[in-house]
Amino acid sequence: MKTRILRSPADLTAQDILALYANFDTPITGLDCGEKCAPHNPSGKPFCCDICHAVPAAYQSEWASLQTRTQLWHIWRGDECASPDNRDDLENSLPDGMLFLACLGPQACQRQHRLLSCRQFPFFPYVTSDYRFLGLVYDWEFEKQCWVINNLAQVTPAYRTQFIATYDQIFALFQDEFESYALRSQEMRAHFAAQHRRIPLLHRNGGCHLISPVSERARRVASC
Ligand code: SF4
Ligand code: SF4
Repeated sequence: MKTRILRSPADLTAQDILALYANFDTPITGLDCGEKCAPHNPSGKPFCCDICHAVPAAYQSEWASLQTRTQLWHIWRGDECASPDNRDDLENSLPDGMLFLACLGPQACQRQHRLLSCRQFPFFPYVTSDYRFLGLVYDWEFEKQCWVINNLAQVTPAYRTQFIATYDQIFALFQDEFESYALRSQEMRAHFAAQHRRIPLLHRNGGCHLISPVSERARRVASC
């Protein structure tokens, strides 16, 4: 994949996508975290697999690849949830080369055909203001719902390693992706600064760090 000139993730081939999926396939924790959060969702679904809570974003190239292999996905219409409340915001937030998809739901999930966004949830790569990819941070909008976010010590070293390797590879290919996560990380710093909280980070070198959202100083702690 690194020997070809690619302009965006939209240029990835089906083989590239399969390779990315194969190398980012290990579960986040040693147990089924969906069983932990689903009982707290009135729909009975894990929150990240409930289209009323999270609409999965995919690279155009993932969609092209998946269409030939599974019926699991369709292009998000916006009517899959009875009460969509933020459709315009969602559509405006979508980067170039991506689209929203909807799957058949957790009862019909096919692990091998999960999107990168399924595999990375609830995490995204944290990028400092001087452009270093430091590790994994969580999507703070799911702090109340996601069991994993509240049990970061349960995240396995294998998952952390695969996450880091996947995004090292993506960032080596696509500068725009790196910029996009740098911006997301900046938003996270602003959010945590407003709440006078430190950001928990699963560091790429291991362990947990707490980051000051103002100075960006990182301090290693015994556990997150
Ligand atoms: S990642 Fe979080 S929201 Fe998704 S199934 Fe696990 S605990 Fe639930
Ligand atoms: S494909 Fe599976 S993991 Fe992804 S949103 Fe659907 S049910 Fe959840």
